Amino acid sequence: MHGLMMDMPLLTSSILRHAARHFGDVQVVSRRLEGDIHRYTYRDQERRARQLASAFERAGVVQGDRIATLAWNGYRHMELYYAVGGMGAVIHTINPRLHPEQIAWIANHAQDSYLAFDVSFLPIVEAIAPLCPGIKGFIAMIDEAQQPDSRLSLMNYERFLASGRSDWQWPQLDERSAVGLCYTSGTTGNPKGALYSHRSSVLHAYGAALPDAMNCSARDAILPVVPMFHVNAWGIPYTAPLVGAKLVFPGAQLDGKSLYELFEAEKVTYSAGVPTVWLGLLAHVQSNQLRFSSFTRTVIGGSACPPAMIKTFREQFGVDVIHAWGMTELSPLGTLSRLQNKHLDAPAQIQQKLLEKQGHVIFGVDMKIVDDAGVELPWDGTTYGNLLVRGPWVIREYFKGDGGNPLVNDEQGQGWFPTGDVATIDSDGFMQITDRSKDVIKSGGEWISTIDLENLAMAHPAVANAAVIGVAHPKWDERPLLVVVSKPGMQVTREELIAFYEGKIAKWWTPDDVQFVEAIPLGATGKILKTRLREQFRDYRLPGA
Ligand code: ADP
Repeated sequence: MHGLMMDMPLLTSSILRHAARHFGDVQVVSRRLEGDIHRYTYRDQERRARQLASAFERAGVVQGDRIATLAWNGYRHMELYYAVGGMGAVIHTINPRLHPEQIAWIANHAQDSYLAFDVSFLPIVEAIAPLCPGIKGFIAMIDEAQQPDSRLSLMNYERFLASGRSDWQWPQLDERSAVGLCYTSGTTGNPKGALYSHRSSVLHAYGAALPDAMNCSARDAILPVVPMFHVNAWGIPYTAPLVGAKLVFPGAQLDGKSLYELFEAEKVTYSAGVPTVWLGLLAHVQSNQLRFSSFTRTVIGGSACPPAMIKTFREQFGVDVIHAWGMTELSPLGTLSRLQNKHLDAPAQIQQKLLEKQGHVIFGVDMKIVDDAGVELPWDGTTYGNLLVRGPWVIREYFKGDGGNPLVNDEQGQGWFPTGDVATIDSDGFMQITDRSKDVIKSGGEWISTIDLENLAMAHPAVANAAVIGVAHPKWDERPLLVVVSKPGMQVTREELIAFYEGKIAKWWTPDDVQFVEAIPLGATGKILKTRLREQFRDYRLPGA
């Protein structure tokens, strides 16, 4: 017997329509390349998104077409999310920090028909245009008066939008139709596309908003530092209007000072980003002895959040850190670390240890750890294995079937997505990432977690950033090398850092050596580029090797 409830498709356009109807005067604030702070409301945004969709329709875009963006976090980028997705086309956000050749490769693979871009990326657009004959128009996202000169014949976003009808209405679509496309960063091999559906995006937005997930509400002013070109800014452009939160977009200015000023001016309560962006903000507030007047919570993920960062935010600034784990293939949220009822009276140290883990799944995602033969491993907090996940916002295959079927079937024939991460799960269901399987150090047949070694190094007061890689060793195959950027004006020696590990880890985990560098190479999403680092130290000989 079927239930007798309405069958309303889950569509992203309904999120923005909901915000416009029920939170119509809530503000969306953006720092713009024009140099000013732009502000309007969800009501304005929904009207402009419909008008933009109508303009695309008039320009010949049909359902299923891909429209690319190369853009910062801002209101126009969000209009594109909703206009393109809401009309049944696919918004394809491209990471501008990739090499232009890689960008061209991705745009061609996706068969993008238009590309909208922030003018700071004009040099990239000019470089890729000859390589991407399929792109029919390049749309500069800027006021008409500031339209840049170019050897390309560019379209202007505002002029284009004005060509659409503001009485255009959102179509009813199949909720399983595609809405967005993001490519993984492809550190090994070519990037592959994760193609999100309306249904997966709306369910992910619901899940993300839950109190024990990102915990977003109509009382929040949310500033996503995580870029809208990196897994949809972790879904915040969908979650914020779903709950009616104010949105604050930082544009291109992501340095500590600019962020702090925007946090204060717009009374931001909540933010999200990878650990490396918070290094800049914390350095700015600490060196200028500033306080946050409204900022109380932040989601940190994308790579392991150093425990020292969780401590600093909590103890010095009263900011709760929600440590999150996810990936492009998961839309991206999988787990988040929040205390449960039974932990509330636990000693602070135990609470801190739980918060350092990557956390608990959101309902919708299921996970397990398995050994190399696929046998499920116990949830005891110490046994580690390959992390597999499944759920309605987890990919089932890559765009165009690239790489074949990625899923691993269990005995019931259910498919699980192998994350490529190695993790433990404790008896309360808290997952902790030990490493990416390709980064883990294999020393004498045993594994050493680079994340643990990095976290400990980051707790040293003179260390600004740290990375650990395995380097070849004649006896042990691989041994850990600690690569460190020291804080400006602070001195620390190799011996001091090695001694700093004493008593904190098994002795054989201790790095064999320390190298000091000016900077650690970061990838396009702000994560440490271990591949580059391993290349850099390929010929390096450990003492005693
Ligand atoms: P890409 O895989 O393209 O580099 P993703 O953002 O999809 O970009 O990266 C997902 C990977 O990032 C995860 O598989 C995991 O290795 C790592 N990661 C994400 N969040 C965390 C976290 N909180 N702690 C440790 N690793 C993380």
